[in-house]
Amino acid sequence: MDAFEASANVPRGDFEFDCRPETEQSFENALEKARSGARLDVDDAIELLTTGTDAAGIDPRRKDRVLEAADRRRAEVIGEEVTFVANLNNNVTTACDVGCLFCNFKDAAARFEADHDGDTDGFTKTPAESRTIVEDALDRGIYEVCSVSGLHPALALDDEHHEILAGRDGEHSYKPPAVYDTDPGTYVDQIEAMNVDGVHVHSTTPEEAYHARRGTDWSYEDVFGRLRAAGLDSVPGTAAEILVDEVREVICPGKIDTEEWVEAMTAAASVGLDTTATIMYGHVENEAHRARHLDRIRDLQDRTGAITEFVPLSFVHHETPLHERGLVEAGATAHEDELMIAVSRLYLDNVEHIQSSWVKYGDAQGLKMLTCGADDFMGTILSEEITKRAGGDYGEFRSVREYADMIASIGRIPVERSTDYEKRRRIDPDAGTLGPTLGPRADGTPLL
Ligand code: SF4
Repeated sequence: MDAFEASANVPRGDFEFDCRPETEQSFENALEKARSGARLDVDDAIELLTTGTDAAGIDPRRKDRVLEAADRRRAEVIGEEVTFVANLNNNVTTACDVGCLFCNFKDAAARFEADHDGDTDGFTKTPAESRTIVEDALDRGIYEVCSVSGLHPALALDDEHHEILAGRDGEHSYKPPAVYDTDPGTYVDQIEAMNVDGVHVHSTTPEEAYHARRGTDWSYEDVFGRLRAAGLDSVPGTAAEILVDEVREVICPGKIDTEEWVEAMTAAASVGLDTTATIMYGHVENEAHRARHLDRIRDLQDRTGAITEFVPLSFVHHETPLHERGLVEAGATAHEDELMIAVSRLYLDNVEHIQSSWVKYGDAQGLKMLTCGADDFMGTILSEEITKRAGGDYGEFRSVREYADMIASIGRIPVERSTDYEKRRRIDPDAGTLGPTLGPRADGTPLL
């Protein structure tokens, strides 16, 4: 039987990238460095992600050694606790014309115009609707509202931004709210609406921040400063995808480039906002791109110290244009997923928490990731539209009871946390009823 799994240290698809998984390093040296706690470089990461560039495919025995090193590091850095947060996803709108080829969350913005003939499955929420949704979820016990949205042409930072963009319809992806069936308000309006009773507002990706300053000479510090004043608490480091421009040009040519993403994240940190960071892998990129991405994140964290967690997101391909156009046949294999988590833990020596996303991996594999270097198991997400619309099968809600039972089943300690990991509450899986307790209105009653 062939001990090697077909994958991944050859370029995926037909893309001839400059950045290739080739090094002067050896797998054994890279693993030795990782085990000793020495800071890894990009070549080391490539060797670990490929289980050695000296042979094609992933060697399961070498892979197990990488996972073991990462799990040991996790135990040293974090211990046996596995955290999760009680949170709500409130995506404001699916209207977006950026056209990223990995995304099935968006709907063409023209479908939301008042004179459009025909239906859309998508939605736009007014600030008042967002507030009602957050109020309801607060009563149920959430700690955090996470809000990531499409780049609706009528979304502007605030009224001043509308005034600047007015009269320039069609430029800078802008149309006035009156064109649309539903007015999403401004970014400031939405943050103010969601900022209820001290709930933690986690919102405004670098891509959204770019949209919120388009057509102006405002800096990212200006944008994040105004949003912070409106109630923003922390920034999701999504829209990162792969932070190597030759990959971005294939999968998201309409998006900001790597330098701009880093600039926005640096600015968010400079006005005092915590951030997270992500990688979306398993499409056209290769391991050298993944390694360089990790390097950009580690460098950003060296400079800012603001990244609370790193979240590897395995590409869900089924209903995306990348798949429909035949550019990507499948996502990452389970071996690649495990190595991505493990090498993230080993490479990012300055980021404390590595998240296993059960929405992307499913329950069984999500739990397995907690033995490959991950220590956080995401959130309750009362609503999850993004992965579901891309064909993901792994549900949209996880109760505190389910969390406690799942985490205890692998011999680890379930812990409810705040977004910034500062507040933590160990959970006794043998308790009768279990609900969140850290949110502003949480009292231990089950979420649903
Ligand atoms: S990933 Fe975001 S920016 Fe890109 S098409 Fe989807 S919603 Fe729009």
